[in-house]
Amino acid sequence: MSCLFCKIIANEIPASKVYEDVGVLAFNDIAPQAPVHILVIPKKHVDTVDELIEMSVISDLFAVMKKLAAELGIDKSGYRIVINHGQDAGQAVPHLHFHLLGGRKLAWPPG
Ligand code: AMP
Ligand code: ZN
Repeated sequence: MSCLFCKIIANEIPASKVYEDVGVLAFNDIAPQAPVHILVIPKKHVDTVDELIEMSVISDLFAVMKKLAAELGIDKSGYRIVINHGQDAGQAVPHLHFHLLGGRKLAWPPG
């Protein structure tokens, strides 16, 4: 298995996990861009959002992000959910992941 995030799912690489269930894993980003920067991923490997559209786990991923935002106290102040898709968006890890960002004022538009 060569996928970095699949290795995190399999506990072959350590990560600061904040949520886990049968289909979803959430862990702190190793290089946080905001006070809250969590990566939320489906445990089933898919490369990009293109494949996610077919999967029922999509609603579970959003439910987990909503729950974490409330637990971390950014539900009222606001937060951003980002998917980087492909080269121009800078997708570095080819295992689909949502970035959940918050805890500070976030610039828009992104660079
Ligand atoms: P992206 O550019 O959308 O593919 O984002 C990949 C994210 O994965 C970046 O924000 C990285 O900081 C993060 N990342 C890379 N390796 C790890 C790791 N071992 N544990 C946690 N986050 C990681
Ligand atoms: Zn993977």
